Amino acid sequence: MLTASPRPSPVTPTIDLSAQGVQHGHLRLPYSRDDSAWGSVMIPICVVANGSGPTALLTGANHGDEYEGPAALFELARVLDPAEVSGRVIIVPALNYPAFRAGTRTSPIDKGNLNRSFPGRPDGSVTEKIADYVTRHLVPLADIVLDFHSGGKTLDFLPYAAAHELPDKAQEARCFAAVAAFSAPYSMKMLEIDAVGMFDTTVEEMGKVFVTTELGGAGTASARSIGIARRGAANLLKHAGILAGAPETTPTRWLDMPSSDCFAFAGEDGLIAFERDLGEPVRAGEMIARLYPVGRTGLAPAEYRAAMDGVLAARHVPGLIKAGDCLSVLAVLTEAP
Ligand SMILES: [Zn+2]
Repeated sequence: MLTASPRPSPVTPTIDLSAQGVQHGHLRLPYSRDDSAWGSVMIPICVVANGSGPTALLTGANHGDEYEGPAALFELARVLDPAEVSGRVIIVPALNYPAFRAGTRTSPIDKGNLNRSFPGRPDGSVTEKIADYVTRHLVPLADIVLDFHSGGKTLDFLPYAAAHELPDKAQEARCFAAVAAFSAPYSMKMLEIDAVGMFDTTVEEMGKVFVTTELGGAGTASARSIGIARRGAANLLKHAGILAGAPETTPTRWLDMPSSDCFAFAGEDGLIAFERDLGEPVRAGEMIARLYPVGRTGLAPAEYRAAMDGVLAARHVPGLIKAGDCLSVLAVLTEAP
């Protein structure tokens, strides 16, 4: 059988990913453009390694407008002492670096949504080249992968770490054990609207332990959510045996997204008036939000009612919404998986 061998990645790391000690450098991705004919995208990367042991890959800003991951990971890269490490920690605080610098979910270069671009292409767009490098050169090094997310500029979430239901139940159990070790205030068995092209799916299909998060959103990060991210990353490294000691756990509330009834989408443009705040319970048939037409007074609002019992796990931000936008996500309190 003839199979074309894949092209090599155009990305070059400026550090040796297998060296011992602390290294700070870049993933250099050639990007020829008007203001730099032979220019590059320079994605910051840090590797902290000491002796033998597992490898963790920690990533932030897969979406460029989500800030808990970068805030936790730029700090961790600054302070992590190789003498405390058994194994290796690969830290990429801002994976979709062009999007992160622009403060946007997707890349300003190619409009690429990195978390819909996996496994990527070595001969694709800038965003697809980042995904390809991560898939073929970083994930294979890792035993455990933590990818930080939050709601960005258009969603706000209860702070949770999450994993997915997987066909390999032993792998699924390892992922949920890692979610429990992260010890966010909430822990989610997460249902995806659109799993194709996600980093999550690619890493899970490679058999790795994968943890994702949604730690807030609304285009910023709070002292509380950054604290959850920092402690969660340290807890995961302890859980993996890369840092010494037991994870510092606090009680977490487990949530499940049992069906697509969790999601509500706006059917029209308008002004949202929520009747519930994040974390508050709502029963099937009760009002989640009213959506007011804003062109004139005297018009009745559209009513958005819960399709199931649950708690409000995510909501749209800011106050205006467009038809098709995700208005709310409900989740069900449950036992630990
Ligand atoms: Zn995200």
